[in-house]
Amino acid sequence: MSGEEVRVREFFTKMVTIFGRLIVFLLLLSFTSAKAELRERAEKARAIALNVLAEGYERRANDLYLKLSERLTRAKIEVPENGIDFKHCDPQTLAYVIAPGLSHNEIYFCNRVHYITNAQFAESLIHETSHLLGYNECEAIQIEVNTMTDSGRRPLIQNLDQENCL
Ligand SMILES: [Zn+2]
Repeated sequence: MSGEEVRVREFFTKMVTIFGRLIVFLLLLSFTSAKAELRERAEKARAIALNVLAEGYERRANDLYLKLSERLTRAKIEVPENGIDFKHCDPQTLAYVIAPGLSHNEIYFCNRVHYITNAQFAESLIHETSHLLGYNECEAIQIEVNTMTDSGRRPLIQNLDQENCL
């Protein structure tokens, strides 16, 4: 091999290495920015829900709204990337908590969350937060609907058991 060939070969090896690193870097960048976007959306929904609860409390002075706010403030909101779903998700499920009322602090959202508005996301957070406080499904539906109406809004989500609970 001539010196010229060695140099050309080295040049290409270097280029392949640089190109490979660039691809890894871009993949990492898109992964972290996708995560940040999900985080941002969850925080937007949390802020809306806390605002709804504050307005409900302002109008009705119901202490439940304070408890819900306190609980929601420290809840961990888990949102899957679009196309991915958590273990307990099915097409009917928008969100769930594990072992309601116990020491769990996470609210899991299913992939459907990518196809609803931030206001619906917020309403669902109020429903799930009441599960974190130990309320059962019917109670959670009632709390969700009451919070929305007490704050001067219309409920935006039709729950599966809605008819049997209200
Ligand atoms: Zn529920």
